[in-house]
Amino acid sequence: MQTDPLIIGGGLAGAYLASRLAALGQDFLLAEARPRLGGRIATVRQEGGTYDIGPTQFWPGQPRIAKLVKDQRLTRFDQYAHGDLMYENEHGKPQRGQGFASMEGSYRLEGGLTQLIDGLAAKIDAGHVHLSTPITTLSQTGDGITANLPNGLS
Ligand SMILES: Cc1cc2nc3c(=O)[nH]c(=O)nc-3n(C[C@H](O)[C@H](O)[C@H](O)COP(=O)(O)OP(=O)(O)OC[C@H]3O[C@@H](n4cnc5c(N)ncnc54)[C@H](O)[C@@H]3O)c2cc1C
Repeated sequence: MQTDPLIIGGGLAGAYLASRLAALGQDFLLAEARPRLGGRIATVRQEGGTYDIGPTQFWPGQPRIAKLVKDQRLTRFDQYAHGDLMYENEHGKPQRGQGFASMEGSYRLEGGLTQLIDGLAAKIDAGHVHLSTPITTLSQTGDGITANLPNGLS
């Protein structure tokens, strides 16, 4: 398959770039190693709860994220920052306090940060996205760059 450009990785950066190219009507392909978009952003929904298991907060000093949230008409809320922070240690024992910051002043996203990725994905034609497609090597060829896959395909 020929493409110009090829986006390697469908995390927030790759998904955003893909959405911008799609908006410009430019041809492109996005190759993502995992079977889903989002990269480190992952939200688990379980028993009515929504849990961000990777990135969770964003801050007033992140205007690009703020713009994405606004453009996608998503709803943010303040990170709860009162009381002790609790976590489970490596032995499975709950720990209280320990002086860790509780991210006061940061924001959360209703429905989890995956909402950002879902919003970007909705702007990208699925035909441009190749999931479960890890690029193993790039090689310079006479007329461009070849991206290689583990199964010998390119
Ligand atoms: C536990 C944790 C908590 C965090 N908390 C916050 C937070 O609260 N707030 C905040 O702002 N940031 C936080 N971060 C940082 C934030 O996650 C990253 O800055 C952001 O997600 C990076 O996005 P990205 O698209 O650049 O990279 P990634 O999300 O890493 O995406 C890269 C993508 O490329 C794919 N890929 C890699 N190599 C290949 C290949 N060869 N072929 C095909 N695909 C490939 C990967 O599978 C992945 O999907 C946190 C990170 C972690 C790990």
